[in-house]
Amino acid sequence: MCREPLHERTTIPRGIICSDGVKRTLIIRLMACDKCGSTHRELPGGLVVPYKRHCTENIQKMIDGDTRFMHWNASTAWRIRAWWDAVTVYFLYVAASLKEKYGSEFADPPVLREVVQVLANTNNYICTRSAITPG
Ligand SMILES: [Zn+2]
Repeated sequence: MCREPLHERTTIPRGIICSDGVKRTLIIRLMACDKCGSTHRELPGGLVVPYKRHCTENIQKMIDGDTRFMHWNASTAWRIRAWWDAVTVYFLYVAASLKEKYGSEFADPPVLREVVQVLANTNNYICTRSAITPG
């Protein structure tokens, strides 16, 4: 992205499995740059992890191994933990870089919700859909 101001092109539905296990549809804004034509999906603060069907709270529980109120099966939790193991170092380095460069504040150690939000909004989130797929 060229860091020019973005404008709303349209809104699009985005399905998500919430912490109560109910699948809901969010309406999110698709933002576009007039200069370079790139697009950016504006994610609601801390609720959605890019490319993941579960909400951030569910994903944090899977990472933590929290099995209370589970709305997922064991293989989903295994894949999420494998994804987290693969991306944690990258996320933490980017968080440290953003903290040093812009003074961004994070918990110590940074938590999933804040790191994902900052990475997505600064265009540093990497798509791991096929690049880092365990098994
Ligand atoms: Zn642009």
